[in-house]
Amino acid sequence: MKTRKRFGQYFLHDPGVLKRIVEAIDPAPGDAIVEIGPGEGALTRPLLERVAHLTAIEIDRDLAATLSRDFPAERLSVVCADVLDFDFSVLPPGLRVVGNLPYNISTPILFHLANYAGQVRDMHFMLQREVVQRMVAKHSTPDYGRLSVMLQTRFRMQKLFNVAPGAFRPPPKVESAVVRLVPIAAQPDWDQAVLERIVRQAFSARRKTLRNALPLEPAEYEELGIDPKLRPENLSPADYLRITRRVCAR
Ligand code: SAM
Repeated sequence: MKTRKRFGQYFLHDPGVLKRIVEAIDPAPGDAIVEIGPGEGALTRPLLERVAHLTAIEIDRDLAATLSRDFPAERLSVVCADVLDFDFSVLPPGLRVVGNLPYNISTPILFHLANYAGQVRDMHFMLQREVVQRMVAKHSTPDYGRLSVMLQTRFRMQKLFNVAPGAFRPPPKVESAVVRLVPIAAQPDWDQAVLERIVRQAFSARRKTLRNALPLEPAEYEELGIDPKLRPENLSPADYLRITRRVCAR
């Protein structure tokens, strides 16, 4: 079948890689698994050998129709939709979200899913390796940025293993990696919109010092014990949460 580049279609065909992903997920029969972008069902099939039912969200109508034909509805619910429009809160909590994600929209998907951390038990994704490196990057390293802070405040994350381009058809131009995300707390006890604004502002001026990147008073930096001569990349996710709480307490 012809693959659609605009939907980031790179289909996994390496049985060893598929086995490693399923082992990492370690599904139990009653788990509520949601797969993003099932495609031709490379991952869907082995998962359905381990769970009673699975929900799959696929944007490509032809692929969604084929999957609905191949599996009985009591085993597989296929939602033909853009995952970025999908409201995960309509599903019961405790979800295990998985997928070999379309790389062209992987960052928007991760930000979208961060809103549903309270609904989710864990997530396992295949992503471009460079994106995984940014997700798990420690502060004061080159890969650390907005994605690292926004995800590390909501999830514990672990890079599991690398996957070479030859595992996919067609082979992508980039290396891939599998990552696990586990929510830290059901609900954040800070204002998420304020955190988003501060982090966006900070990293849009990443070469500037904090004093010039963020509109905080010198006394506020002193109270927080943060040196305003540092750069945005030097602050940990916990520091960004402290700044958010300080701004909200004004
Ligand atoms: N899971 C399959 C595999 O491993 O072989 C396919 C993975 S392929 C990298 C990404 C899949 O996501 C494709 O099936 C594509 O059609 C689907 N997709 C792309 N954009 C999507 C979106 N916005 N919402 C839901 N599915 C999407």
